[in-house]
Amino acid sequence: MKRYFDGIVHRNKRIAPGVFDMTVAGEAVAARPGQFAMLYPGGDSRLLPRPISFCGADEKNGLYRFVYQAAGGGTTLLAALEPGRTIRALAPLGNGFPETRPGERAAIIGGGLGVPPLLWLTRSRAASGAEVSVFLGFRSDPILLREFAETGAGVSVSTDDGSMGFHGNAADMFENFADEPAFDTVYACGPKPLLARAAGIAEKIRAACYVSVEERMACGVGACYCCAVETRGETKYRKCCADGPVFDAKELVWGAGAVG
Ligand SMILES: Cc1cc2nc3c(=O)[nH]c(=O)nc-3n(C[C@H](O)[C@H](O)[C@H](O)COP(=O)(O)OP(=O)(O)OC[C@H]3O[C@@H](n4cnc5c(N)ncnc54)[C@H](O)[C@@H]3O)c2cc1C
Repeated sequence: MKRYFDGIVHRNKRIAPGVFDMTVAGEAVAARPGQFAMLYPGGDSRLLPRPISFCGADEKNGLYRFVYQAAGGGTTLLAALEPGRTIRALAPLGNGFPETRPGERAAIIGGGLGVPPLLWLTRSRAASGAEVSVFLGFRSDPILLREFAETGAGVSVSTDDGSMGFHGNAADMFENFADEPAFDTVYACGPKPLLARAAGIAEKIRAACYVSVEERMACGVGACYCCAVETRGETKYRKCCADGPVFDAKELVWGAGAVG
């Protein structure tokens, strides 16, 4: 159940230009892959919290990991929090990725800062015996690659500038691998054009597809409606924070801007 807690920043380290790896020690919170926390930028609640996905959690020891980009004012304040500082959080939020099915063959596709939540998903799928192939795309500076490789999943990397791995984005790379219906399920997180492409490829290979959508949000709990996403269902607009952030890709309406 979601609740506020005051955690202690255990570690907050730069791991790539503008990207930080933060571990927060706090009381036990039962989170699962695909869920997120609202983190208060200056540590306290003077500013609106920012949504950041769990990259991992060690509930037994009350340790929660977040990997994030210092993208603007709020996340730059998060990046400035030194170990030992208190940080207020509201968690766990959102629905998370669905449970795995026995013998699942999963393709996990991530782009840029959509990659961190997929590390926990990959770990949990690999640990449950699923056959997992991971496709990760970055502009130029890959993150978390060693940890993805340690899960035992097959990991393929692409960069927009061709400096490492496949030259192009994660969807192009995935399409190269996905001629045959070798996957039952596709999971994706990253920029909307990447999610739309992943959904299209999944449909072609007749795989189920779940995408984690990162809309701008203010409250994180379904009260303010500012993170509405357009869906095909009867309820035309659904809340990314409370109904998502993970949606069955078939439910979503991909606007023109998403088909990049
Ligand atoms: C459910 C969810 C999970 C997320 N998980 C992560 C994560 O694990 N790691 C991570 O680095 N980021 C994640 N984000 C994005 C992160 O919340 C935003 O980058 C952050 O809120 C920006 O706040 P700011 O004050 O630093 O920047 P602002 O000054 O508010 O914005 C700076 C730039 O970031 C863009 N931006 C703002 N909000 C978002 C958003 N929601 N998605 C994409 N771009 C945005 C703005 O358009 C602007 O270009 C997640 C977002 C959501 C909704």
